[in-house]
Amino acid sequence: MIEFKNTIVVNKINIKSIFKKVNSFYLYDYKKIFYHIYIINKLNLYCFFSIKSNDNLYLLKIINNTINKFDIVSIGELKKIILISKKKPYIIFSGSGKTTLELIFSIKLNIFCINVESFQEIFKIYYIMNILKKNINMMIRINPNIDAKTHEKITTGKKKNKFGILISSIKNFFIMSKILKINIIGYDFHIGSQIDNLSPIKKLLHLIYILYKFKKFQYLDLGGGIGVNYYKTKNIIKIKNFYNIIKHSLKKKKINSKLLIEIGRYFFCNTCVLVSKINYIKYNVNISICITSIGMNDILRPSLYNSYHKIESYNLGKTLTNFFGPICESSDKFINNNNIKVKTNSLIILHSSGSYCKVLSNNYNSKNKIFEIIVYKNKLKIIFNLEKFKNLINNYE
Ligand SMILES: *Cc1c(COP(=O)(O)O)cnc(C)c1O
Repeated sequence: MIEFKNTIVVNKINIKSIFKKVNSFYLYDYKKIFYHIYIINKLNLYCFFSIKSNDNLYLLKIINNTINKFDIVSIGELKKIILISKKKPYIIFSGSGKTTLELIFSIKLNIFCINVESFQEIFKIYYIMNILKKNINMMIRINPNIDAKTHEKITTGKKKNKFGILISSIKNFFIMSKILKINIIGYDFHIGSQIDNLSPIKKLLHLIYILYKFKKFQYLDLGGGIGVNYYKTKNIIKIKNFYNIIKHSLKKKKINSKLLIEIGRYFFCNTCVLVSKINYIKYNVNISICITSIGMNDILRPSLYNSYHKIESYNLGKTLTNFFGPICESSDKFINNNNIKVKTNSLIILHSSGSYCKVLSNNYNSKNKIFEIIVYKNKLKIIFNLEKFKNLINNYE
């Protein structure tokens, strides 16, 4: 439990001492991570962790020891998993632009499955399989033309999105797979992220029923996208209810395929806060401005998708609503509608920063990446060190 009293307390550990030395860091709660893993295990589904949401090696080791299934989108992610895993993990390779090298690498490794997104990709895989004299399982990612009713930039299942094969092509697809004798083990869907109600999924289930009648399949991969609660006040659907309703609906329609899911955001999002310091408070004509140490290079989501991260500080000092980072862009602003009392040099936190934050961080303005720290069994443990300046200049000839 991450609590905010006179300072931040995580499972009774006070982080005041570390804040004196380090001004900005992501702070994870190990206990909460295990609670989420427990909830996911209890769903009794084949859950693959979407590594793109958080690829910290320490956290990947936890996932490897508990879930042992990964959904990847690049060879870099694949190599990270190989680096940390002892027993062979199950791997699904997703993504719309897999390179020849990435395909060769995964076919040689004989990963569990490649989720294919186009006829062109299948021809490429077919060609590689023939040269390597190896086979690989494939699932077809279908673009169902269903609006996930989430943010436009994280919707993936509409006709105008780049993802998947259109339903109108499915028939040709099966004719082709028969001719080529390739191993299609199931259908795959991922219609978007941060889905917080069931209506798009219900539409999808109806479509799945029609497809199943047309041709039965061994696996059904429903992708990820389960929403998490960024606004601690709002009520959104619970993960358990979400998947129970799906399971029940599939059972009622006598769809016996094995259900796979690929979850990213849910695992770490609400197990982490981004801690920073207030550097300046100033007043321009119509606006009061608070400038923090962290910026859009540490947490891109607000400028990229207008995402909300709840802001908290000590309830002392001047009342402000406008919070900015130090980066030289006007869009380096945090979304906030609340009045928050703040003081210069004091601590400030951004909630729900465990997914799609560190992974999207970058070196814009020649900033180095900040620490990641976890509270583990009443101790603070660094799981990512402050990036060294050397790293910023290493690649120059
Ligand atoms: C990003 C992604 C996921 C995970 O989505 P979350 O919203 O993080 O759960 C799952 N499957 C695919 C194919 C993805 O691209």
